[in-house]
Amino acid sequence: MKQAWTALAVASILALGVSSPVFAIPAQSGRLRVIVNETPVSFSTPPALDHGVLVAPLGPLASAFGATVVWERDARKGTVTSRTGTVVHLTIGDPTALVAGRQVTLPVSPARRSGAVWVPAAGFLRTLGAYVRISGDAEVIEAVSQVTEITWRRGSDGFVVRAAATGPVNTQVHVLTDPDRLVVDILRAVDSLKDAKIEVGDPDVVAIRSAQFSVRPDVTRIVLDLIRPVPYAVALDGEGVVVTVSGTAAARNAPPQDTNPAPARLPGSPSEGPSVRPQGDTATRDLEHSNGAAAPEPHAVPSLPEFVDSPGAFHIRAVDYRIAEGTGQLTILASQPVAPVVKQFTYPARLAVDLPGGVFLPRREDLEIGSDAVRNIIVAQLQAQPNLTRVLVYFHRKTSVTTTSTDGGRTLTIALSDIARAPKRPPAVVIDPGHGGPDSGAIGPAGVREADVTLEIGRMVRQALERQHVRVVLTRTTNTMVGLEERPDIARREGGIVFVSIHANASQYSSKKGTETYYGTPESASLASTIQSEVVQALGEPDRGVRAADFYVVMNSPMPAVLIETAFISNPAEEQLLRNPATQRRIAEAIARAIVRYLGARTTAPAP
Ligand SMILES: [Zn+2]
Repeated sequence: MKQAWTALAVASILALGVSSPVFAIPAQSGRLRVIVNETPVSFSTPPALDHGVLVAPLGPLASAFGATVVWERDARKGTVTSRTGTVVHLTIGDPTALVAGRQVTLPVSPARRSGAVWVPAAGFLRTLGAYVRISGDAEVIEAVSQVTEITWRRGSDGFVVRAAATGPVNTQVHVLTDPDRLVVDILRAVDSLKDAKIEVGDPDVVAIRSAQFSVRPDVTRIVLDLIRPVPYAVALDGEGVVVTVSGTAAARNAPPQDTNPAPARLPGSPSEGPSVRPQGDTATRDLEHSNGAAAPEPHAVPSLPEFVDSPGAFHIRAVDYRIAEGTGQLTILASQPVAPVVKQFTYPARLAVDLPGGVFLPRREDLEIGSDAVRNIIVAQLQAQPNLTRVLVYFHRKTSVTTTSTDGGRTLTIALSDIARAPKRPPAVVIDPGHGGPDSGAIGPAGVREADVTLEIGRMVRQALERQHVRVVLTRTTNTMVGLEERPDIARREGGIVFVSIHANASQYSSKKGTETYYGTPESASLASTIQSEVVQALGEPDRGVRAADFYVVMNSPMPAVLIETAFISNPAEEQLLRNPATQRRIAEAIARAIVRYLGARTTAPAP
């Protein structure tokens, strides 16, 4: 079927239209273009359309994305190896490509034309792990790399973060202070991890975050939240970007390999071949909200040997927090004099008390405080050899502290102004506008930001419910960052009876559209279906159904909790619906109506 490479006059292109099912139409010069990593690919024979799909010579496409081609002259089959080692088998006349052993169907078959192998440009670049945008009537294909995985380890060389990229990238580094951060911008890369964050609990690095910093130019931003300014090195290798932080911990620690034995993956990072993962639509879906679940903090340490106090090592016996007369008092009891290192951080506001030499045999203890100033306290042995116990105090607000040491240095007291929380508030419906602050969420083709849409809808839900005298708490009321782990906390603290997280969906396929609602626990299923049916009725977009999923916010809210993907911001038509205040209001009122219906049904139901 590929014999029909008939040359036609330019005028007939218009007559036939691009969807002509029969002919491959040679391009009017410059109209059909492939842009890889922001550079137009130059072909000796210009790209053409085959069944409405832009096709182009394989060689230049592959090399633009850093891949190599092995194709014997006149052979029917050939092999392409991506920069990261993914092997793609292609066959002339067969639309099925074998990508790392998996079958992927290309929109049209590879074909031989004037001695060269031609392939569908977008489909082929996707097999290499490229993020591809198709604009016009398939006239312009733009491809950039994707950041598919972030891993870290603490080794003798320091703290090493690796960002895997599917194709060629570049970096730009910024050092920020207050709080100390190392920002590594990966240029020409789309963040397929979608706003991942992991609390590292390393002596130098608090957390690693990744997010899409900008779209066109595509910049993925990796941020290392640091405890102090540290020397760093950023390098590119065949697989992506390597950031090495060689702080004081590395010097103090040699050889500390055992401290964090397993390289940790960011939650949401692919577990199979990185260049395969971004292909499937469901895979894209999975990446979107799975981040944030189970971020260990601090990182677990290996089991300790039997331990007795020895020079340089001693027990942390107890950590206690009490409030009296406007003063909160954190007491740390050690078996030997301790020289604490106390640091305060913002964003989120917290206090770290490092106890070098301290062994904390429970290894980790969580104290829920919930006072006016203190949210919770985590005591954990952060590392062994050398021992280090860290007490982390998470604040609700910025607080100044006073540290005193008594009993020859064995008792440490940290005082701050605090009061116990007022008694329970009336029950509340908790509305959680997804994303916010530097985390924009998904961004639509016209530039509409998910975080803005979710906030608008969230506010409108509150208005609608307050008209019915329902108390509503928003997890954020402005364009600010609220951590994923903080959102269920807010719901718990505020006496939430229902938790609804509002999002907009995104897919690499701009045609995908519709509404879907997720729930975590069986008790939340009827809330999910009530919201889904109201919103589908009100918005009129396709009903994609109700599904169970283990998103952090719905799994960790101790009340019926759901997450609604109102519509696809990546779909140009639905993006316009999402940005339109009138449709926002329709969605919001449908959500409010569903919540009222759900609560009504619940309270009038006969006792079981
Ligand atoms: Zn979202």
